[in-house]
Amino acid sequence: MAHAIRIHAYGGPEAMQWDDVPTPEPGPAEVLVHHTAIGLNYIDVYFRNGLYKAPSLPAALGMEAAGVVKAVGSDVRSLKVGDRVAYASGPIGAYSTDRVISADRVVRVPDGISDQTAAAMMLQGMTAQYLLRRTYAVKNGDTILVHAAAGGVGLILCQWAKHLGATVIGVVSTDEKARIAKEHGAAHAVVGYEKLASEVKKITGGKMVPVVYDSVGKDTFAVSLDSLAPLGTMVSYGNSSGPVPPFEIAVLGAKGSLFLTRPTLATYTASRADLERSAEDLMQVVASGAVQIKVNQTFALRDAAEAHRALEARKTTGSTVLIP
Ligand code: NDP
Repeated sequence: MAHAIRIHAYGGPEAMQWDDVPTPEPGPAEVLVHHTAIGLNYIDVYFRNGLYKAPSLPAALGMEAAGVVKAVGSDVRSLKVGDRVAYASGPIGAYSTDRVISADRVVRVPDGISDQTAAAMMLQGMTAQYLLRRTYAVKNGDTILVHAAAGGVGLILCQWAKHLGATVIGVVSTDEKARIAKEHGAAHAVVGYEKLASEVKKITGGKMVPVVYDSVGKDTFAVSLDSLAPLGTMVSYGNSSGPVPPFEIAVLGAKGSLFLTRPTLATYTASRADLERSAEDLMQVVASGAVQIKVNQTFALRDAAEAHRALEARKTTGSTVLIP
């Protein structure tokens, strides 16, 4: 018997239940993974509250975990029983003690990286990888804007961007988060976004920034556009304050021929080759010490509701791991 945190209907944190579920058998191309650490991500909130839809209900939440391979399907050659592995991929189901997942979505975890670090870094770290290296290739000397800079993706973005030679302006909601962002690579931290564009103007001497990484969505979309230099790239990659409402695309022209993209990790790691490149790039910056994965909160998997409450109340910093 396995256990999973499942929802039977969309709702608040109380919708999550600790259920007994049968231990699944891997199909031919799948592996059974016994989880040792599970990553908490904002996308879990969207699946819980129904902003994103589960394939069917009841459904176990979660997109990311680390653990040990317990069984392999008959066609699987790349992995064997006992391998330490991690993944950040749909379908949802990571909030469980044991689950099956397609072998081609799983990567081996090197010895120097702990299970908790692996569970914390795969989704947020590969997101930072594609945002900084592919969506907009950050260059030495760029000054860039990062929202929720003390959050999970945020702290990785700040450190990695600094490592690439960029000057990071982080946006946060409290002085304490400003301190944390600055400790992890942000050269500047702006508290609150009401006067963000004028702060960016001051910091950049009027040049504004070539890219904004905006994970907050509804509340910050307009002020992010106002912070961009002509031909700048608006990367709207999340909705922690709610989804961005439909808007008039002529605005992009009026504000300086801006580029707008709404990227997802799923697209950027759709092929096995892209997944491997992204994971290797991430593991390299973590192994070298250029990027530290800050697991600032842990909760028992059973207490996932408490973890969601903390995340939604903006009480977490860095990454959060659930322990089965
Ligand atoms: P975070 O640790 O960044 O937590 C969310 C943070 O968003 C909060 O700490 C808070 O920081 C900020 N925030 C601003 N407004 C609100 C609000 N109204 N309610 C709650 N939080 C708010 O989470 P993650 O690192 O897990 O994810 C960050 C974002 O990136 C999410 O939007 C997520 O969906 C997105 N994402 C997108 C991916 C993609 O490929 N498109 C992949 C991975 C994540 P503060 O208090 O400083 O404002």
